[in-house]
Amino acid sequence: MPEEQRTFIAVKPDGVKRGLVGEIIKRFENKGFKLIGLKMLDVTQEMAEKHYGEHKGKPFYERLLRYIQSGPIVAMVWKGYNVIAGARHLMGKTDPMVAEVGTIRADYALIMEYNVVHGSDSPESAEREISIYFKPEELCDEYNNMAESVIEDLG
Ligand code: UDP
Ligand code: MG
Repeated sequence: MPEEQRTFIAVKPDGVKRGLVGEIIKRFENKGFKLIGLKMLDVTQEMAEKHYGEHKGKPFYERLLRYIQSGPIVAMVWKGYNVIAGARHLMGKTDPMVAEVGTIRADYALIMEYNVVHGSDSPESAEREISIYFKPEELCDEYNNMAESVIEDLG
């Protein structure tokens, strides 16, 4: 059975300010992933510290916390076949200058500090990040879409 996963994706404040929300969602929809959670919110200091706890102590940590709180984000949960790696593939590498052309970060960002989109990097971080931003009852998984048809066809 191919692996169906969930991942946490966020359009970061620079992406929201630049009007890239629709473009980013479109890329995930076009790929065939299933959107099961969506909200716009201001990240609190506590949420930011939880989200980026793994980077505590790194030189960019304080700036990263300020960045993620510099305006509203659009928080999302996406589901589908290998969606964790698949989403990161669509996003491109952390540094937009080395990200492959055609990825979100290569196409829409200049520097690592403002790279417009976040995506979980493992099943564990996905579940942890989803729980920071969403209550289970806020996720809508009770409809069929292409992502599930793909899984069923392969299964
Ligand atoms: N970041 C930064 N400078 C760095 C490394 C990371 O500003 O040298 C920021 C950047 O916004 C990145 C985030 O910190 O997206 C989290 O870093 P991570 O290594 O987890 O990259 P990601 O998983 O977002 O590709
Ligand atoms: Mg990361």
